[in-house]
Amino acid sequence: MDIQHNLKGIQQAIHRLCEQVHRSSSAVTLLAVSKTKPVSDILEAYQAGQIAFGENYVQEGVEKIQYFDAQGIKLEWHFIGPLQSNKSRLVAEHFDWMQTLDRVKIAERLNEQRPVNKAPLNVLIQINISDEESKSGIQPEAMLDLAKHIENLPHLRLRGLMAIPAPTVDMTEQENTFKKMVDLFEQLKQALPTQEIDTLSMGMSNDMASAIKYGSTMVRIGTAIFGERDYSEK
Ligand SMILES: *Cc1c(COP(=O)(O)O)cnc(C)c1O
Repeated sequence: MDIQHNLKGIQQAIHRLCEQVHRSSSAVTLLAVSKTKPVSDILEAYQAGQIAFGENYVQEGVEKIQYFDAQGIKLEWHFIGPLQSNKSRLVAEHFDWMQTLDRVKIAERLNEQRPVNKAPLNVLIQINISDEESKSGIQPEAMLDLAKHIENLPHLRLRGLMAIPAPTVDMTEQENTFKKMVDLFEQLKQALPTQEIDTLSMGMSNDMASAIKYGSTMVRIGTAIFGERDYSEK
């Protein structure tokens, strides 16, 4: 797996897709999703210029963060998995971003547990945009209530929205989902004009192109950078 080569390919693809829809390529951040991958892979990506990494499992993420801290390598860590409230402290203490916030209770815990010597934890509200019963994320109608609650928590900084749409081969359905997210993002910005709402996290290896076309500002890419994941040892 040539991680450096893959990263370059993705960056070029982002650039090209942005050009096609007249967006600046600096408007889209690439989050490298490194879950299940060893620190050697992350190091290789870092050496190719990648700074922002996403992890789904709290313990695994914290181990990697501590490894790079000990090396004096400053990376930006995003928690992107489902979070149980008994693990919130580890996220509050170690991560820079939490992308899957969907409950007041977790927001309050993260706010209380964020160390005061650290910058506020950047958070995204996760929207259950495909209305899947088993998926995490809140219903679109509940977004503003949660946002207004977060606005009052001094150790959290609300930056926008995140979604994991249900996989589909129906392009129209995929695009409608992204359009719905953009509408919600605009609603959120209007409702909280004093907050710096600047991040719409959507698009993965399979649906990056339409996500960028419709206005994603952060794509979360794992497989296309690091190769297929092997869960057999987990
Ligand atoms: C695993 C994961 C990704 C990356 O998915 P790929 O298909 O490997 O690009 C993105 N976002 C979330 C929330 C994930 O869990």
